[in-house]
Amino acid sequence: MARIIGGIGVSHTPTIGYARDRDLRDDPSWRPIFQNFDVVREWLAARQPDVLLVVYNDHVTSFFFDHYSAFTLGVGDLYHVADEGAGARALPAVPGHAGLSRHVARYLTSQEFDLAVFQHKPLDHGCFSPLSMLTLEEGRWTSAIVPLQVGVLQFPIPTARRCYKLGRAVRAAVESYPEDLKVVIAATGGLSHQIHGERAGFNNTEWDLEFLELLERDPERIAELTHAEFARRGGLESVEVIMWLIMRGALTEQVTRVHRGYYLPSMTAIATLILESQQPPLGQEEIAAARTAAARQTATMESIEGTYPFSLESSARAYRLNQFLHALVIPEVRQSFLADPEASFRQAELSESETALIRKRDWLGMIRYGVTFFVLEKLGAVLGISNPQIYAAMKGLSLDAFLRTRRTNIVYSVAARDE
Ligand code: FE
Repeated sequence: MARIIGGIGVSHTPTIGYARDRDLRDDPSWRPIFQNFDVVREWLAARQPDVLLVVYNDHVTSFFFDHYSAFTLGVGDLYHVADEGAGARALPAVPGHAGLSRHVARYLTSQEFDLAVFQHKPLDHGCFSPLSMLTLEEGRWTSAIVPLQVGVLQFPIPTARRCYKLGRAVRAAVESYPEDLKVVIAATGGLSHQIHGERAGFNNTEWDLEFLELLERDPERIAELTHAEFARRGGLESVEVIMWLIMRGALTEQVTRVHRGYYLPSMTAIATLILESQQPPLGQEEIAAARTAAARQTATMESIEGTYPFSLESSARAYRLNQFLHALVIPEVRQSFLADPEASFRQAELSESETALIRKRDWLGMIRYGVTFFVLEKLGAVLGISNPQIYAAMKGLSLDAFLRTRRTNIVYSVAARDE
């Protein structure tokens, strides 16, 4: 059974990664950063967590305002380092724990936290800046991660209370995962800083220390604060500290503080914190209830004949093929596909069996493999094959035989024109 063995809070300013990559440990202005992170790193090394659930925010690197979400859970099994403008840091990709992610996604959604999910997106300094200080030993990551991206950059953003409640649900999600895993919840960001406008450079150490104290002893008080109150006290960009409430919510009511560090070198107050739960993990009854809740919505779906629900598992398995077919919405891509299908298969690095599915127009085979119908109709439109033809083929009928089962004989597709 998975268990949350503690929570850490760490700043995620790019400064940390900068100092680590240049090994500025002996420089007096950088030394306190290393000293504080050393304590957290040693604590992690002693506890050896299998997974770090990292609560972070992306800084308009992998997530843009064409589609901005509040809570976005990584469900992949590998996360690369993002290029933020001048090349990516030379760090290895970090493994993700996809099994735990999927369970967390199912449980949280069952509790009405309707998460967005992502895969195949690189992570920026919000995650890798602290991570590279904590779990990278001789070029290898000592723990897998489950990243949880919080959209804190475009208002409206989640309330502090919503984050705290989410943390409670995260606890039940993690502790009801059947595999024996030691999990640490890592919150990142803050503390006080503002990096834009005439107020750039604003800090408030007094508030930072009060925040750390309240987070530990009376998180309800922080959960009450509005974004404007956070901004006034700590600077606008410090509003990201609402993410620390997710970590706090995932621990028990009483916690023991193992470490607290604070250093304000330049623009951002860099805090480090380790908390351990004082109360025991969830009991058997609560765990059983959480597992039932996580499975309930889809539990009997598999037994409906001729039905293939599109799940996180199918999405991961058939990602490449779905991506290939989805790209047919781009005019140049479909032109090159029609001109030389074999070359476009090679370019997309489709496997032999994936290629065969498209070559044979094996619509049902693609569905069974994990392709969503809504890219099949795009392929149909590109090839001049109507939707009813695809339905008929999946049912093993001729088009005429299929149309006889309908009230009308209409034939259509998602193509804009009929030529
Ligand atoms: Fe940030």
